Amino acid sequence: MTRQEKDCLACGRTIQWRRKWAKNWDQVKWCSNRCRRQKVRPVDQQLGEAIEQLLESPEASKSICPSEAAKSVDPLNWRELLEPARSAARRLVTAGTHEITQKGQIVDPSRARGPFRIRRATSLA
Ligand SMILES: [Zn+2]
Repeated sequence: MTRQEKDCLACGRTIQWRRKWAKNWDQVKWCSNRCRRQKVRPVDQQLGEAIEQLLESPEASKSICPSEAAKSVDPLNWRELLEPARSAARRLVTAGTHEITQKGQIVDPSRARGPFRIRRATSLA
């Protein structure tokens, strides 16, 4: 029996092993019904790309707020994209290319509550 953790493919949060998944843990990809229904939509993909682009441009500050990616994807309805942008940020963290911070400290994407910023990974974990 393997008890371990994996990352939700949609929101990037850690999925904790549960007994009901004992038989099909390998197939578990989503942390919740909500994530399973939503998966990664084209707009979610776009948000991830927006974060990467914003962090690439030379004049970019060292880190950005996910809302900046939401605004660049949809300047009018960006508020609706705020949570998806936070999910996109968490996915980049699980990919190992980026890290999220609060008050300048690297934080665990699954546990971070409240606003956070994202930057390119500075340390090779
Ligand atoms: Zn999820």
